[in-house]
Amino acid sequence: MKRCAFDLHSHSCLSPCAENSSTPDVMAGLFALSGFDIAALTDHNSCRNCEAFLKACEHYGILGIPGMELNTAEEVHVICLFEELSSAMAFSEYVYKRLPDIRNRPRIFGEQLYAAWDGSITGEEEKLLISASGIGVYEAADLAAKFGGTAYPAHIDREANSLLNNLGFWDGGMGFGMAELSMACPADFPSRREDLAGVRFLRGSDAHRVEQIPERPSQFMELDKLDRASVIAWLRRRNTL
Ligand SMILES: [Zn+2]
Ligand SMILES: [Zn+2]
Repeated sequence: MKRCAFDLHSHSCLSPCAENSSTPDVMAGLFALSGFDIAALTDHNSCRNCEAFLKACEHYGILGIPGMELNTAEEVHVICLFEELSSAMAFSEYVYKRLPDIRNRPRIFGEQLYAAWDGSITGEEEKLLISASGIGVYEAADLAAKFGGTAYPAHIDREANSLLNNLGFWDGGMGFGMAELSMACPADFPSRREDLAGVRFLRGSDAHRVEQIPERPSQFMELDKLDRASVIAWLRRRNTL
């Protein structure tokens, strides 16, 4: 058994709200430097910088997980993580088609940059990636599973883009077995809500720039093997932590 430090919520320069200097390789390098064994890249509604992130993670000797922070039709943020890069890319293409055809306005929202694993900028996405997709929150868990991944709602304790704030309740029928809390969430938050009984929790840094990557890890998963299949299996477990 290995005790593996993880953070599964971060953004790169493809997210308009992230810094342009947060290229996938810079984020991967900082996660490694801070002592993480596992890190996921979860840009808004896109996995297209994940290949670069995974390569950079490999270079720095940590395990990269391809992911996305899906924005549902209800403006609820949902973290979707995948075992295979190819499945993440197929999911990304599917979500892209279900995004409204609204162009990004870089001066208002920020640039959406594609980067290679060496940090060079390879292009810019013109469609606005932070729009609400046409995918409903009741659809998200099944959809991610269909693409070989797993999904859970992000930062449920926050006011903006959170399941509890936007919908007002947790419903087991949505198919999520776990939920993410923000780093600032008080420890007793879950116990204050009856509808969260039996839900597993983890925390995500939601780092949009390097200084938001925690200086040292505070969460660990026990794995037999440090690989993506084991991480996804650990996330899918139904029993509480
Ligand atoms: Zn979010
Ligand atoms: Zn985020």
